[in-house]
Amino acid sequence: MELRICHLYPDVLNLYGDRGNIRCMVKRLEWRGLSAQVTELPIGETADFSQFDLFFIGGGQDFEQGVLLDDLRRSGKAASIRAAAADGKVFLAICGGYQMLGRSYTTWDGQGFDFIGAIDVHTQGGQQRMIGNYVFRCADESGGHEIVGFENHSGKTHLGSGVHPLGQVIRGYGNNGEDGTEGARWNNVFGTYSHGPVLPKNPGFCDMLLQTALDRKAPGWGILAPLEDTLENTAHANVAKFVLGTT
Ligand code: GLN
Repeated sequence: MELRICHLYPDVLNLYGDRGNIRCMVKRLEWRGLSAQVTELPIGETADFSQFDLFFIGGGQDFEQGVLLDDLRRSGKAASIRAAAADGKVFLAICGGYQMLGRSYTTWDGQGFDFIGAIDVHTQGGQQRMIGNYVFRCADESGGHEIVGFENHSGKTHLGSGVHPLGQVIRGYGNNGEDGTEGARWNNVFGTYSHGPVLPKNPGFCDMLLQTALDRKAPGWGILAPLEDTLENTAHANVAKFVLGTT
């Protein structure tokens, strides 16, 4: 069994080591005797998206998001992403990448970006940056795990009807600092504000994404075997303790 992973815009969207999420997914597959093939699609390159099982998009600043607008349309990536999302392919999109999957983003200084519209969310920039380590809990439909991460955004994201929050904020800002929601889940698209990278210290979340991609690729394939996650769980617990001030 092999998962085909597409890393969209590794050249532009890669804040805070977001690409570490790819390494984490590949390693957790390999440790179970499964394999992964990673295809990077930078600006100017495209591919047949039907070959991919899982897409990853990292975060980026307003400037980088603006730079991508032209390529999204010109290369056909916007339409391909919309089709793949509607087809139930798995996406993990972080912060600026998450905003980009939505309909639009008006930056804090008034620039208007029409984005992909793969999921019905929109983002409005605010004067206050929402920054810091944070903790949220995923909804049961998205695995129910407690997630520790790091957020840094001025965009406030609001979910349209039919899009569920990825989870609820325990400590921090999440989507907008107002309604207690964090991230988005639509079909098998997972958007989150969590950089970090998020997956190495949240192994249950990583496995949920991999399992969802495997289930879609080969229904009835089976359940991912547990791994020895002492280090990962210790990293998680230490960040949670730091943020929540509890043991
Ligand atoms: N530019 C976006 C914002 O500030 C996203 C930033 C990011 O990806 N960290 O809201």
